[in-house]
Amino acid sequence: MDFMVNKWIKNAQDLLFPGFCLICGRKAAGGRDLCSRCAAGLPRNDHPCRCCALPLPVTSKPDSLCGECQNHRRPYDRVTAPCLYKGEIQRLHQAFKFQRKLAAGRLLSELLCDAIGAPDNSEVQLLIPVPLHPSRVRQRGFNQAMEIARIASRRLSIPVNQSCIRRTAATAPQSGLTKKERIANIRGAFAMKQPLAAEHVAIIDDVMTTGMTIEQVAGVLRRHGVRRIDAWVVARRP
Ligand SMILES: [Zn+2]
Ligand SMILES: [Zn+2]
Repeated sequence: MDFMVNKWIKNAQDLLFPGFCLICGRKAAGGRDLCSRCAAGLPRNDHPCRCCALPLPVTSKPDSLCGECQNHRRPYDRVTAPCLYKGEIQRLHQAFKFQRKLAAGRLLSELLCDAIGAPDNSEVQLLIPVPLHPSRVRQRGFNQAMEIARIASRRLSIPVNQSCIRRTAATAPQSGLTKKERIANIRGAFAMKQPLAAEHVAIIDDVMTTGMTIEQVAGVLRRHGVRRIDAWVVARRP
């Protein structure tokens, strides 16, 4: 049933959004809303910290750790964030999040899935989108992390669990806060709602800035015995 519904949605999307590049408007091959020229010009996170995916200087060696990750143990194992939050990625994300342009969301999810190689995802048992507080879902109409997880789930054949963690507090938006304020704002904002049988999960989110949100969700999962926790986010902001 789910498969049929998914297939119907995919067909409807293809009718609504034929293969035209969402950035330049030219025809795009391969059933994707991105032409090869614009794809080549996207801001990529080519020198990420191997733990938190913070963009490092281009001169850094592959697989380096940032200063924070050298000094503090993170509650997660590894973040994958293929894009930098600027330029066309930022524009696509804003169209997705604030104007609910689902084609932009689909393209961002595809860029994320492209970066998740087979060895990384072969053992991931569940995708866990960062939950929004119900009041925020009502206000915005959807949870962008859930949309990304849904598309990644179809493409990578990994189930989504959106009910194991809930957001207990309706926190202020993290954007526009200092790092200290972000920490105070988000601490204790998540709780486990249902026990989880999975040992290896990937937290899904759209953009990672300080990483406080991912750390809080990962901390809850870790305390409930999840052995390996990855985070897959579309874009990283330093
Ligand atoms: Zn283009
Ligand atoms: Zn790091």
